[in-house]
Amino acid sequence: MPQKNPEQPDSSNASVLSQHLIEQIAAKGPMPFAEFMAAAASHYYAAHEPFGVEGDFVTAPEVSQMFGEMIGAWLTDLWLQLGRPEKVKLIELGPGRGTLAADIMRTLSNWTEFSNAVTLHLVETSPSLRQKQAETLRNYRPTWYDSLDEVPEGFNFIIANEFFDALPVHQFKKSNGVWMERYVTYDKATNHFNWTLKPPAFDIEDVMPPDFIDAAEGSIFEVSPASLSVLEEMCDRIASFGGAGLIIDYGHKKTGLGDTVQALKHHKYSDALQDPGEKDITAHVDFGALKAVAEQQVQVHKAVTQGEFLTRLGITQRAETLREEANDEQRKGIEQALFRLIAPSEMGTLFKVMGLSPYQNTITPSGFGDDITKEETDEVIHD
Ligand code: SAH
Repeated sequence: MPQKNPEQPDSSNASVLSQHLIEQIAAKGPMPFAEFMAAAASHYYAAHEPFGVEGDFVTAPEVSQMFGEMIGAWLTDLWLQLGRPEKVKLIELGPGRGTLAADIMRTLSNWTEFSNAVTLHLVETSPSLRQKQAETLRNYRPTWYDSLDEVPEGFNFIIANEFFDALPVHQFKKSNGVWMERYVTYDKATNHFNWTLKPPAFDIEDVMPPDFIDAAEGSIFEVSPASLSVLEEMCDRIASFGGAGLIIDYGHKKTGLGDTVQALKHHKYSDALQDPGEKDITAHVDFGALKAVAEQQVQVHKAVTQGEFLTRLGITQRAETLREEANDEQRKGIEQALFRLIAPSEMGTLFKVMGLSPYQNTITPSGFGDDITKEETDEVIHD
């Protein structure tokens, strides 16, 4: 059998989704970009296992076990601060290959009382990733759900690493002095999906900070109602049942202007509109918008950079311990992983961490505090 060229999209799958989108556009007219992004992302995660060097991107838990160990330590500290509750739901949103959950559960096993209290709940829509998670996490008997609101009630710790960036955004563009919404259309002659503008389906004042209403011609603004609705559910659970939340993702601390949508295939950027479902399509997470919504219900531990967070939790010391037991090659790997996770030029600054806890508990989750690094990318981003 001829070998499939990995650079070529899987045409059978790609064409099924493309064809579906083309038909939708033909029947109903141009489609809001958010709808296009949702269809592309859902198809992508259902059909691919995108993580790692062979895939399209590498996430922090896939870089090193140290990432999950730090989160495990963060959770243990909180569990102690919260009076050692006897039943804890550990809920992960979008667990990918299950690596983070496995590293957390392994770390928790240092505290038998805590690990005995924990049950694992995974919110995952992709059937193929669910299967992968079942293999990775078979010792921990997880339960799966399509959405957070299906998880049974109870004290919960909710973790989301690189989950919110996969949720769809609406994009608005200032054109001829008015804010328009970016839609996707299809051009039969070139066989390309293209951008077009239509009047927004939203009341723009409802979704945009007042400062941006008069932004310059050509400015782009993004909003992710899908993210805000998951966040509201997260906060509701934390406020009602107790516990805490941790959101880790790449993005900006303050709401800004700019086009942050990107598509990655084999670690390279490519056109977000072509070959939908064949590449990882994401947008920067607007931590400013998340904070504004979350603080209506819970205490928000303001976003800090991943580098600061992991350093405060002791990742450098952990790397040192691992290095002591390692051979030369492993030592090099540990150093590279540490650099990847915390260096400003790598994931250290672009990635942010935000914490959530109930207003009624005066707890201090570790890792948060005043900024050490100044953010250089408030106004994003890349066109
Ligand atoms: N947290 C993992 C994977 C990040 S990729 C890691 O850090 O490695 C995004 C994950 O979210 C995938 O598991 C994907 O299938 C899942 N996902 C994307 N959109 C989702 C949705 N709307 N509901 C539930 N899971 C979703």
